[in-house]
Amino acid sequence: MENTHDKAAAPGDRPHSVEAHLIYGQMDDPLWDYSHHLLPPMSSSATFRLDSAQRGAQGFMEFAHTTDEVQVRSKAPIYIYDRLGEPNKDMLEQNLAYAEGGDVAVTFASGMAAIAGVLGMLTGSGSEVVAHKVLYGCTYSLLTNWYPRLKIGVKFVDFSNPAEVAAAITKNTRVLYMESPVNPTMRLVDLQAIAKIAREANVGRAQEDRVYTVVDSTFASPFCQRPISHGIDFVVHSLTKAIGGFGTDIGGVVIGPRWSHDMLMLYRKDFGGVLSSKAAWPVLVVGLPSLAVRMRQMQTTAQQVAEFLEQRPEIERVLYPGLPSFPQAELARRQMVDFDGAFAPGSMVYFVMKGASAHDALTRAERFINHIARSAYCITLAVSLGNIRTLIEHPGSMTHSAIPADEQVGKGLDPGGIRLAPGLEKPADIIRDLAASLDAMA
Ligand SMILES: *Cc1c(COP(=O)(O)O)cnc(C)c1O
Repeated sequence: MENTHDKAAAPGDRPHSVEAHLIYGQMDDPLWDYSHHLLPPMSSSATFRLDSAQRGAQGFMEFAHTTDEVQVRSKAPIYIYDRLGEPNKDMLEQNLAYAEGGDVAVTFASGMAAIAGVLGMLTGSGSEVVAHKVLYGCTYSLLTNWYPRLKIGVKFVDFSNPAEVAAAITKNTRVLYMESPVNPTMRLVDLQAIAKIAREANVGRAQEDRVYTVVDSTFASPFCQRPISHGIDFVVHSLTKAIGGFGTDIGGVVIGPRWSHDMLMLYRKDFGGVLSSKAAWPVLVVGLPSLAVRMRQMQTTAQQVAEFLEQRPEIERVLYPGLPSFPQAELARRQMVDFDGAFAPGSMVYFVMKGASAHDALTRAERFINHIARSAYCITLAVSLGNIRTLIEHPGSMTHSAIPADEQVGKGLDPGGIRLAPGLEKPADIIRDLAASLDAMA
């Protein structure tokens, strides 16, 4: 198993585990004057004192010029204004790039700001995005409600069929966009196969016409999958989910190749969707350092909960990459691996209620979820995931309720489908609450 982290923007060339690096980062780096703090202080300051006009000039010259030759570079970073950069975000970005095995990371105000940022950098009027047909709702809305106004074309195809993706690429295509696992159905996209299609499409293309691959890896988190190691160009995450982990703050990140750093920084500076330093700090000192231990625990829980649900007669099917019944079990084992190379099927479970018809399944799922909302102690009806509290939601009557049950089937959605995001409770706690609400359905 290739260790993707050896070549990453490494916080030091030490022989320690990824987990250790995510706790310590480069805290003894001469760039950071925090050697007497156990933790970096929250660097909440909208603007920064410049002791001379020259220092200001030097700071502006260095901003977003990491890949150009700046003649004389200052020893420590020169901070000017929070929207351009400040210590907490910069430290967090180093560690996020490291976690994903990418060259650079740029944080944003939310997952959606990060998605809009990477797509905004890669596209322009007249260009096209080819995207998987099932996407996070707001990403779908961005592409369908706003991109037509920008004269950016969008085609939706089935990324589980790589030939369809290859056939959709034209000379104007700049981005292949996907999630894996897909929200909420837990289907996987073969990232190596899609990366290969982009490589083939790029043969003979001019640099400015290249096709780039972008993966929203939020459902997996860097603990379960590092798309860059599979040949993908850009990874985006909602930091609000597993990486933040505690549900206190909204944030997002783009991780990608070195050349993209300056463009992403300029984009963020001008469109303004900057991550607050107060939101970067808990991700830096609490969320990312505890990602591995939380994900390991949640994954064990998800496996047990999925096995429990598969036994229940009320449930038609359970989709969890760790189950032997998972339709893409082989792909899951190849693609979803933890920092040590062990199979890492993740923390998200999807299951479908039985029903005599689409409408019946939807009604039963709604009844079940309402029972949970009223009576469960440690399962909360709420959107989001990767939280220390177990969260559950029913897309059919919530996020996709505008679509009638029969039409949901046509769009590849299950009216009885339920998404469960286990937290840090013991598996038996979650199973007890699920069993009580399933029993109440009888
Ligand atoms: C939550 C989420 C987003 C959006 O992130 P925000 O931080 O809420 O803006 C994007 N993609 C996926 C898969 C998500 O779960």
